Amino acid sequence: MRPRKRFGQHFLHDSRILQGIASAMALQPGQQVFEIGPGQGALTEYLFDQRLDRYLAVEIDRDLAPLLPPKFPGIEVLEQDILRADFATLLNASDSGGCGWRVVGNLPYNISSPLLMQLVDFVLDRPANIVDMHFMLQKEMAERLSAVPGSKAWGRLSVMTQVTLNVQYLFDVPPESFRPPPKVDSSIIRLTPKQDTTLPVARKSLDQVLRLAFAGRRKRLSNALKTLNLDWQSVAVDSGLRADDVTIENFLMIAGQVESQQDKSSSQQ
Ligand code: SAM
Repeated sequence: MRPRKRFGQHFLHDSRILQGIASAMALQPGQQVFEIGPGQGALTEYLFDQRLDRYLAVEIDRDLAPLLPPKFPGIEVLEQDILRADFATLLNASDSGGCGWRVVGNLPYNISSPLLMQLVDFVLDRPANIVDMHFMLQKEMAERLSAVPGSKAWGRLSVMTQVTLNVQYLFDVPPESFRPPPKVDSSIIRLTPKQDTTLPVARKSLDQVLRLAFAGRRKRLSNALKTLNLDWQSVAVDSGLRADDVTIENFLMIAGQVESQQDKSSSQQ
C-alpha cells in the first residue's frame, strides 16, 4: 500500500529501533496499551501480547485500520482522528483497573505539537489515567520538549510540558529506519506524569506569560512582559533576565503575580 503523505506516513522497518522502543517500554502482563497511529502494525508487532489486559489503537487511515485485528486478535482499533478523540472516555482509569494506560506512538509529525498539548491537558486533568507515554518525534521537537533553561531549545513547549511531565530523551532514529525516509532526524522520548501535577496557577495564565516572554526572547522580561504592567517589586524574579534563562518556577511566580493583579483589579471594579 502506498504511504499517504497527508497522514504523515513513514513506516518503521528497522528491527533494532523497534526492539529498542519495546525494551524502553518494558510492558508487563495485565497492563493497558494505547497506540496512536499503528499504521501497518510495525510497532504493534513488537508490543502486542495476549497477556496484556487491553490494547487499544486509533488509526485515521480507513484502509489500514481493518488490517490490524486479524493480525492481532483481541486488539481494539478505532478508525478515528486522534485530534478529535475524547481522551476522558477513551482512556478511562476505571477501565484500566485504576492502573492507567501506557501510551505509545510513532507520531505523524504534522500533528505532534497540538496532540502533545492535548495530552498534557489530559494529564493535568486526570494524572492517574496515564502511566507514561513513549513517542517518536521529530528530533528538533524532542530537543525542545526535553530542553533545560539557558539552552537554545528552551521555549514555551518545554515549559508547558515539563510543568506537568518528566521528560526523558531516550535515543535518536535515523531517516533510513523508515519507509519512505523522512527529511529529518527523529528521536524517542518518554513522558511520565509528575508526582504532583497540580499547578499553582491557571494554565491559561502561564501560557499568556510564556507567549509574551518567548515572542521577545532577546528582550529582558521587564520589556517583553511590558503589556502585563507587572509590579516587579512583588515578584521574586529578576526582571532583567531574558526568557531563555528563566526557570519553570520563576515563570510560575510571574503567572501568579499576573493572576493576583487581575484579581485585585477586578475586585476594585
Ligand atoms: N506506527 C506505524 C509505524 O511505526 O510504522 C506508523 C507510523 S506513521 C509515522 C503515523 C501513523 O499515524 C500512520 O499510520 C497514519 O495513518 C496515522 N495518523 C496520521 N494522522 C492521524 C490522526 N490524526 N489520527 C490517527 N492516526 C493518524
